[in-house]
Amino acid sequence: MALTDKRIGFIGAGAMGSALINGLLKAGLVTPDQIYAADIHRERLLAWQEKMGIHACADNGEAAAAADILVLAVKPQAMEEVLEEIRERVNGDKLIISIAAGITTTLIETFLPGVPVIRAMPNTPCLVGAGATAMCLGKYATTAHETMAAAIFGAVGTAVTVKENLMDAVTGLSGSGPAYVYIMLEALADAGVRVGIQRDIAMTLAAQTMLGAAKMVLETGEHPGRLKDMVTTPGGTTTAGIYALEEGGLRVTLMNAVMAATRRAQEMS
Ligand code: NAD
Repeated sequence: MALTDKRIGFIGAGAMGSALINGLLKAGLVTPDQIYAADIHRERLLAWQEKMGIHACADNGEAAAAADILVLAVKPQAMEEVLEEIRERVNGDKLIISIAAGITTTLIETFLPGVPVIRAMPNTPCLVGAGATAMCLGKYATTAHETMAAAIFGAVGTAVTVKENLMDAVTGLSGSGPAYVYIMLEALADAGVRVGIQRDIAMTLAAQTMLGAAKMVLETGEHPGRLKDMVTTPGGTTTAGIYALEEGGLRVTLMNAVMAATRRAQEMS
């Protein structure tokens, strides 16, 4: 396996960094002694060191020096400062993976010349092992590096590779996407209550329906339109519901949401 002999460093062990660490350990892809984490909140790291056996580094430089693969999981505003701190400790033998929104591989390569870089955009369901991550390769990253990054993000969901000019579009679709789905879910549960179902039961039914429908698409490989046709009886209940959705412009509203978020990501990067 691509990661068995690698030391993996994390700079920033907040929501995303810790989700990745937990995912890697849970999947058994690495052992705790392969993980070297640094964070300005050191007490939290020391507690993890005690509890899980990962290495809590004294500073970012130590994590950078120790790691074969270094994951940068700080907020975008902190990135330049972190790159400045680690530049002397990183060379072309290491792989840098950045998950910071809007930070380009070119910017990272400016601080770390000749170093293989992979930029990734994960989403919050990584926290429960069901993330969707898109990655792109910097100038010096190879398919071997891509395989290692795919193993890391694969531990917390699904990973795909795209060209870097699509990263803003990915942000608009899967990065911001969970929020769109939460709104749809809340609306479905509200609707369930409206037609007489208890709130907690309505929420369970709505969430499981979304999860199940998404699983059907991913696991059967069928086009969602065909799966929709399969549950639509002539003159039945589903076609009545679909008519109402089309009348309300659900499709174009979702497309507008992705396009608006993509534009905003472009403005911000
Ligand atoms: P977070 O605030 O939970 O974690 C950031 C961590 O970095 C914190 O633990 C903080 O203490 C630490 N930190 C801050 N400055 C530091 C420094 N100079 N050196 C070392 N550690 C430092 O944020 P998050 O949600 O985990 O996001 C991290 C990155 O992931 C961001 O760049 C964000 O753009 C990206 N991202 C997040 C999501 C998401 O949905 N949360 C999705 C995609 C990408």
